[in-house]
Amino acid sequence: MTILLALALLMPSSILARTDADLILHNGKIITVDQNFSIQQAVAIKGGRITVVGDEKSVLADRGPKTQVIDLAGRTVLPGLIDSHLHALEAGLSEFRTPLPRLDSFDAVRAYIRDRAARTPKGEWIVVPRTFPTRLRELRMPTRELLDVATEHPVMFDASYVVVVNSFALKMCGIGRDTPDPPRGVIARDERGEPNGILRNAQSLLKGIKPAKDFTEAEKLDALEKMLRLYRAAGLTSIGDGSVSPEEVGLYEKLKAQNRLPVRAVLTWWLDIARPAEDLIAAIRGAAFTTNSGDDWLKYGAFKINIDGGMTIGTAYQRQPYGPFGRQLYGQTDPTDRGQLFAPPEKSLAVFRAARDKGWQLSAHCQGGGAIDVFLEAMAALNRDRPIEPSRSHLIHASFQSPEAIQRAKKLGILADVQAAWLYLDAPGLEQVFTYDGMRYFFPLRSYLDAGVVVAGGSDHMIGYDKNQAINPYNPFLGMWTAVTRKTNRGTVIHPEEKITRAEALKMYTLWAAYRQFAEASKGSIERGKLADMIVIDRDYLNCPEDQIRDIEPVMVVLNGEIVYRR
Ligand SMILES: [Zn+2]
Repeated sequence: MTILLALALLMPSSILARTDADLILHNGKIITVDQNFSIQQAVAIKGGRITVVGDEKSVLADRGPKTQVIDLAGRTVLPGLIDSHLHALEAGLSEFRTPLPRLDSFDAVRAYIRDRAARTPKGEWIVVPRTFPTRLRELRMPTRELLDVATEHPVMFDASYVVVVNSFALKMCGIGRDTPDPPRGVIARDERGEPNGILRNAQSLLKGIKPAKDFTEAEKLDALEKMLRLYRAAGLTSIGDGSVSPEEVGLYEKLKAQNRLPVRAVLTWWLDIARPAEDLIAAIRGAAFTTNSGDDWLKYGAFKINIDGGMTIGTAYQRQPYGPFGRQLYGQTDPTDRGQLFAPPEKSLAVFRAARDKGWQLSAHCQGGGAIDVFLEAMAALNRDRPIEPSRSHLIHASFQSPEAIQRAKKLGILADVQAAWLYLDAPGLEQVFTYDGMRYFFPLRSYLDAGVVVAGGSDHMIGYDKNQAINPYNPFLGMWTAVTRKTNRGTVIHPEEKITRAEALKMYTLWAAYRQFAEASKGSIERGKLADMIVIDRDYLNCPEDQIRDIEPVMVVLNGEIVYRR
């Protein structure tokens, strides 16, 4: 070894970093998302980190004999995108064996049932894969009549916490006019008092439904890896998994140990608030991990509970009743129904307090305005002990906001974790329930930003492989386009006064999402010293016609300094 080389090895890497880059991308339009939102021409990478960002000359000076140099020919580069909230394993398994049909109308549901009935032994269950009434052309919750196209099979329509079954299934499971509602559940009934097929939180009454499908651990690992690769091809270099079980944590750890983790992952630890409070508190105290346990590739993020149900099925806990249209859209029989709170506020607070004391970032699924108020009230109570702001705790979804709640979130330092796809897909149906004026603070992105609330973008993807057709679509550019245009899939525009700029929409999927993950020092922008995660896209995000934003495709993905995807 020469003395010079020996000396070089002893030098701190920061000195070495200025020469002989591993990879240089140049002659491009690098949207850095740095403090000045500066646009640069080139970027150099070494050892998985960004070493120089700047003009051609300053970056190409780092070219060495082994440097891979890529001429971008003017193409745009963005920081690697971050989806703050999705469900990778569920999605990965959803089409692992069989492709899913597109269920967007009653006709499509009927056709699916007929098709399955022809291939399923009589008397065996047919399960219609998950869809929501807000996503059906009819904007109507089905009742048993729709599913009665099958007369010799029990049929279940899966709308998550609400399911609908056909007449055969009601009979087979012994559910009749005299069957009492199960605890916390409801058997919906028609005018004559007969069950109409809709079961809210009452799936326990169904007999003989096989647990979806049994997958081996190897299959689950393959499915998770496959899904994470699809995310990467969509331009995502980091994801936040929206609620993981211990099993899912184990799968992520195995992928990482086997060098098969295609993106960086931050896991949200979810506990079922229906369990007794003592159990939950014991689980929190006994856990060997908390927020930020892990590393740049895999770590724990927030602690999460569900405060209310869903707005797509009429169980989100609202400040006001769902009213008459709730009957059609959700099959609700009580027009004064405000939705469901999953636990008394005192219980949620006690659980949050235990999690806070263990160092967790706190979060909760809260869709209705009433649920948002419950979460903020709990945060305010904890804030009286000591400031909650440093925990970067956040509202998840927070679909039905109010100016008061936004101000309160700002004061407490609470973030918002939002999913623009809900606006794209569900706003038209919800507008029928709550009126256009009643949707004034539905995903109010402009109001959040004006108030100074940090907003992280995500999809809540849970089912399906296609990034634009999935439930929910995980194409980050569709999300950004929705945030910029406030357009829905039915061609309407919902409260354009809440539009945000392209730069702001990009920050939702980069720097602000990184902040939510306590990772803004290492991710979310293209700056010297940060992890080398970036994507090259097929058109200019800042200047292409507005309606083309949703069509933007990544042509190259660089993760940790390596080119991991090329179209
Ligand atoms: Zn979710």
